[in-house]
Amino acid sequence: MRLYHTLGIEKSLFRGNTWLGNDLDGKNNTLLHTFCCAGFCRWLQWRPMTITSPVGPGPFRAVLAAALVFLLFSCSSETLRPRVDEAYLLGTVVRITVYTDEAEALLEPVFARVADIEARMSTSERDYDRTELLDVNRAPAGTATPVSVDTFEVLKEALRYSELSDGAFEVTIWPLVRLWDIGSGHESVPSEGDIARAVSLVDYRKLSLNDDGSVTLPEEGMGVDVGAIAKGYAADEGARILREGGVKHAILDFGGNILVIGSKPDGTPWRVGVQRPDARRNEYIGIVYTSDRTVVTSGPYERFFVEDGVRYHHILDPATGYPSRNGLEQVTVVGDRSIDADALSTTGYVMGLPAGFTLIEELDGVEAVFVTEDHRVYVTSGLKGPDGRSRFELVDEEFRLMGPPEG
Ligand code: AMP
Ligand code: MG
Repeated sequence: MRLYHTLGIEKSLFRGNTWLGNDLDGKNNTLLHTFCCAGFCRWLQWRPMTITSPVGPGPFRAVLAAALVFLLFSCSSETLRPRVDEAYLLGTVVRITVYTDEAEALLEPVFARVADIEARMSTSERDYDRTELLDVNRAPAGTATPVSVDTFEVLKEALRYSELSDGAFEVTIWPLVRLWDIGSGHESVPSEGDIARAVSLVDYRKLSLNDDGSVTLPEEGMGVDVGAIAKGYAADEGARILREGGVKHAILDFGGNILVIGSKPDGTPWRVGVQRPDARRNEYIGIVYTSDRTVVTSGPYERFFVEDGVRYHHILDPATGYPSRNGLEQVTVVGDRSIDADALSTTGYVMGLPAGFTLIEELDGVEAVFVTEDHRVYVTSGLKGPDGRSRFELVDEEFRLMGPPEG
């Protein structure tokens, strides 16, 4: 596991071109604040030497001191002072912006918790010799492997979404994920025989989550993978810790997985950019206006390799064993819990239009934006109205807003 932290506003500014998330507000407010402080510091350095006061040094110094106090206060008041920290975790840059003066004390347990979730639930044999889920996947067929309450909870949710989507979301996708090994840097398209063998080992109905908190897989070679849901769980956990610590305004950015706490400090909704699928991360096709919610995107451009001119990406269709291909380029889900939005963005991406769209429209408390390869944009009803808790606005003229998908 690679881990680095860079607490502080100034360092974030100098990483100017590497804003990896799509939290438009965290980015803008941080920059605004940095310019404020940078200007203030420069002013501090040269102003006293170059100004001659017409009223003499005593009164001038008093005015100067008052001005400094005002500037310091305005720069460090709780509502205007974002603090940013980031670390490489869960295969992405986890970047947290909080509006509080106690950021250091609050953020440390959050990053520790996310690192702990990774160490329990990763199935990456490159990064870990052992994790709870690697133990499950390596256990002899039919034996029960005990796991922690956390891991059991995530598996339970992953199994629930597997059932809900009839296996489009597949908690036992591991044989295929391992075979394709996308993101390893030495990928190639597996043979048809290997893919067929892996597909035959993928079946969520054979996974047993036992009453005593253990997990059983009945066949050699089967395995679980929570890569499509663990980031959401970790974001929910991070938000819980921050809220318990009294944080009222924050953005948790886990790659394409954003969770916002409260509203912006000025009381208006956060603006979360929906990334333009064919562009760098800091270009967006639309904006979700929302408070106290999560916005999670799944897309084939997150991790892929190209062979013979064909793009092979990391979201796999359990039915075929190949990367999912159905004309969709991206699915973004807005909801209350990041674990649900994370699971559903992957589910919606694999199910495609109209089935994935219909599923999300039918579920309470979740909304979605589906983007096709030919730049059509489908938005569920709860994101359209001005009165909804969240609203989507399309801003890129190369994309077309559509009515409900047919079928
Ligand atoms: P996400 O980026 O949240 O859409 O999740 C993608 C990750 O989930 C992949 O890197 C795999 O680890 C895993 N995965 C791939 N295909 C599926 C699937 N059909 N169901 C569940 N998990 C999947
Ligand atoms: Mg997901």
